[in-house]
Amino acid sequence: EAKKETRGFQTEAKQLLHLMIHSLYSNKEIFLRELVSNASDAVDKLRFEALSNDSLFENDSDLKVTVEFDKEAGTVTVSDNGIGMSRDEVIENLGTIAKSGTSQFFQNLTGDQKKDAHLIGQFGVGFYSAFIVAKEVEVFTRRAGSAASEGVHWTCTGEAEFTVENIEREQRGTTIVLHLKDDEKDFADNWRLRSIIKKYSDHISIPVTMQKVNYDVADDESDKPAKDAAPEYETINSATALWTRSRSDVSDDEYKEFYKHVSHDHADPVVWSHNKVEGKLDYTSLLYVPAKAPFDMYNRDAARGLKLYVQRTFIMDDAEQFLPLYLRFIKGVVDSNDLSLNVSREILQQDPNIDAMRSALTKRVLDMLAKMAKSDAEKYATFWKEFGQVLKEGPAEDFTNREKIAKLLRFSTTHTDKPDQDQSLEDYVSRMKPEQKKIYYVAADNFNTAKSSPHLEIFRKKGIEVLLLSDRIDEWLMGHLVDFDEKSFQDVGKGALDLGELDSEEEKKAQEESAKAHADLIERVKKALDGKVSEVRVTHRLTDSPACLVVSEQDMGAQMRRLLEQAGQ
Ligand code: ADP
Ligand code: MG
Repeated sequence: EAKKETRGFQTEAKQLLHLMIHSLYSNKEIFLRELVSNASDAVDKLRFEALSNDSLFENDSDLKVTVEFDKEAGTVTVSDNGIGMSRDEVIENLGTIAKSGTSQFFQNLTGDQKKDAHLIGQFGVGFYSAFIVAKEVEVFTRRAGSAASEGVHWTCTGEAEFTVENIEREQRGTTIVLHLKDDEKDFADNWRLRSIIKKYSDHISIPVTMQKVNYDVADDESDKPAKDAAPEYETINSATALWTRSRSDVSDDEYKEFYKHVSHDHADPVVWSHNKVEGKLDYTSLLYVPAKAPFDMYNRDAARGLKLYVQRTFIMDDAEQFLPLYLRFIKGVVDSNDLSLNVSREILQQDPNIDAMRSALTKRVLDMLAKMAKSDAEKYATFWKEFGQVLKEGPAEDFTNREKIAKLLRFSTTHTDKPDQDQSLEDYVSRMKPEQKKIYYVAADNFNTAKSSPHLEIFRKKGIEVLLLSDRIDEWLMGHLVDFDEKSFQDVGKGALDLGELDSEEEKKAQEESAKAHADLIERVKKALDGKVSEVRVTHRLTDSPACLVVSEQDMGAQMRRLLEQAGQ
């Protein structure tokens, strides 16, 4: 129905809008980046849908974004001839936030504007950033292929509600009009807008155009469009897909801005890797490591994966098949020359070429991380804080790359006795005693319990380093690591600890004697604990504590057992 209706925003949308309006003051100009980014996405989507339905172009295949302004009216307008939106899509896309885990995310907000503004970064800034500078936003849109009468007009002035109504609209695509706040009118300025586009949207692969200025008129008139003539437009950005350019042509800033476009992230990436592969497979990849873990990293339904292009044509977002799950935090683009333009998610799952690309891209990422660890330990430490837990899923999921992943892991150990996970297995091995054959670890619920475990006494006495594990995933990890540098891992809380090779002859003798001497005691303890334990024995692993409980080699670890208990098993 064409009638005008007023609707309330979904609660989460309202919260995001509120945050946007009140907290993102430091960098207001990003609103234009977000709107141009959306316009470019809309053009990508149209191109994709037109692959199977040419008529969607409606005889206008000159795809572009146009930015206009009106100084007197105090407006900035961003238009595209992309896919457009139907009435339902407008309500869905501009009135609600569809991302899974959103409500938990908003429960984490503190009310402290500074902290919360930081959180928005993880969420993605998006369309609502228009409200940083606008007191009113109007959207005029029509979906490609729909009748002119199916146009939609959306308006919003406040934080609580918006209106939608059907309108006549000849033009396919979307026009967004920002009515600038009184103190943001400066944005309605030719040079200002041009420089913002150049700065943030240069990498956008379609033309971002503005009206040409008339250089013939007096200086103070120079930012007004030429009068009396049909307006002429010129392209402001480079308008080539960034990943198709050669590495030496692309500046760090361009890489960073491109990242924000593909990731919908607000912060700069930490590192990236841009590669062209030719030969049996022919593709280009540009992969980024974000600075911050997304709020929904542990949400099974969260979007993940790369943006897939085939011969420069956008095919899909979130193509999951190109990287394993434990690298789900990686963002970026892959552009294939081998895949067919009508490739679907189902086809991706079966195509053997995809497996080859997946293993090559996985290696790329692992190499990029190894390089970062080597060249900038501090940077790597912040990366580890954000994503270490996910990387620990790696050895279980990706047997082939077990050794590569193991090198990337970081642990806290008795070497530093600090909770910071900053020691590599290579560090550990380099400090091993000449006679030592195993890598020892202790696992507990938290760092302090691990650190003060009685199982460590003998190791501390002998000066043997032990990994201190206390993350939920650690025992799972250890179950799959098996060995490193040909040294097996040994849980010091498990089984009869054989430190034989580390004991001197004298110590061995003393141990045998004490076992004999205490045989009586052992019998009595066994009786007293009958049915509660499976074995009692004299141990040499304690120095201060009189006794300790250990699980047998075959049992699951204590931490795993607690995990299962919590899960009600
Ligand atoms: P994101 O771009 O991360 O999806 P945004 O808040 O920027 O989030 O945009 C929300 C949604 O609104 C988009 O996903 C898209 O579906 C829709 N949208 C925004 N701008 C346009 C546009 N110019 N043309 C078509 N759809 C748009
Ligand atoms: Mg967006």
